Amino acid sequence: MVYKLNKIIGSEKTVKNEMVTLEFNGEYSVKVYPNSINEKSETLYFIARDNFSKYLFIICRSKEGDFLDFLGDEIKNLDSHEEVFVKRCPLTSENSRKLQKRFEFTNPILLGKQNSFGFGDRLGLANPAHIKSLAGSDFKPIIAQQSIRELTRTNRHPSEVMSAAVWAVFQEGYKEGFGSDADHLKTIEDIDLMISNGFTMFTFDPGDHVVNEAGSESIESLSQMAEEMKWEDLNDSFLNMLGRYQDKKYVFDNGLEFTPSKEETLRAVIKYGRAIAHIHKLYKHMIKNYDSRPFEVEISIDETDSVTSPFEHFFIVSELNRLEVKMVSLAPRFIGAFEKGIDYIGDLKLFKQEYIKHLAIAKHFNSYKLSLHSGSDKFSVYKIIGKLNGWYTHVKTAGTSYLEALKVIATKNISLFRKILDFSRAEYMKEKESYHVSADINMVKAESEYSDSELLELFSQNDARQVLHVTFGKVLTEKDNTGEYLFRNEFLKCIKENEELHYKFIYEHFRKHLSPFEVNSKN
Ligand code: ZN
Repeated sequence: MVYKLNKIIGSEKTVKNEMVTLEFNGEYSVKVYPNSINEKSETLYFIARDNFSKYLFIICRSKEGDFLDFLGDEIKNLDSHEEVFVKRCPLTSENSRKLQKRFEFTNPILLGKQNSFGFGDRLGLANPAHIKSLAGSDFKPIIAQQSIRELTRTNRHPSEVMSAAVWAVFQEGYKEGFGSDADHLKTIEDIDLMISNGFTMFTFDPGDHVVNEAGSESIESLSQMAEEMKWEDLNDSFLNMLGRYQDKKYVFDNGLEFTPSKEETLRAVIKYGRAIAHIHKLYKHMIKNYDSRPFEVEISIDETDSVTSPFEHFFIVSELNRLEVKMVSLAPRFIGAFEKGIDYIGDLKLFKQEYIKHLAIAKHFNSYKLSLHSGSDKFSVYKIIGKLNGWYTHVKTAGTSYLEALKVIATKNISLFRKILDFSRAEYMKEKESYHVSADINMVKAESEYSDSELLELFSQNDARQVLHVTFGKVLTEKDNTGEYLFRNEFLKCIKENEELHYKFIYEHFRKHLSPFEVNSKN
């Protein structure tokens, strides 16, 4: 009976992945995610929900192999017509590592420079809906993705991020390949931690080494700073470097050309020289220690104050090429403001003009895609990039999925949301420090001043979005004086109990993100 499961439900695999009830001899029943059903070596594997807890079920004819290997408990009292054994295994990191050995498609792959979309999932519950949202898109998903900063803020271990992604691809039966992004790494220790947890893409963030003031320093002081640079870290000398760029003419597509003067060259060197040396150091560490493992690198300089000019973009990539640092993706600091959780702020015409220049440079090198960080909710920018359709794109999002989860709370557990709102207002001024946001806290009132329906409208108000967005870490980890979580348990319970609504919100939200890029592929 149970073995027929594969044939009965197996044909009903859909994008919706609507659950099917499976009864074990009338005594015990669970809801199966049909897309998760896999059969291998006479053993059946699938994910099912027992009330609101999910498990991997393993069904086989004899107690050996994976039946013994996976951790869990045996379910008794089965169909008397067919002798089979059933094991129910919790969705832990330990079991997900075993699953990765059994099913190749649950391991992250390298995505190279093809279009990709990064879905950070800070709760570990949104990834299945992220996968659903990709239907019809040519973007490859980066499903396991979290920065060191966000790992710290949520008290999460990288193994949990990877594990959530593994269970999500298995639940959805997603076999097209996914990426895993160890985001915003600043040190060698960060790299070691993430690679030992199975991550394959490494986003180097040399932002602390970028000299933002280089644009305003006098030539004299720039020359002085250049003399004092540690040129050996760059396998270079001041004079050699000047000789490579000063007064050289560079011509690109779309009529872009530049002939950097000594001053422009100096400013670029001072602004990014130390950052390039830092990237080189991190990259050498990877080559030396992990050469036998598959990895790819993104360089992100997006979290700096000053904008990356087209010449600086060209300079950085030329220098990284000279140092044989290979990357698949570059996140420049684009013009305008890319704040968390809201649309682009700035002159869209100017953005387009500048973006076209960055495109021309990326095309010239032909080895990496352009990456858009803080990519959540930048709908007006997607429209431009989608229409241009000029090059490969990576979009990185994270916190916006948390806001969608919070919207579920505001719909289904209003009293909890009211408490979170007041808590977030109180924490905002402190929590906003390490984020690029501009919300006016005075625009977000105390919960008591909103009706229930007004609470939901907060999700389309920029100030409220940012206040709720940057305080996620505190909301998810704060404990009261008895050591109990203030919100966490109730929060997660509400999301699990309303999985369909949560998936619906996430799905619709990311369709809005992805559809502007599908304009061209459909024509
Ligand atoms: Zn970033």
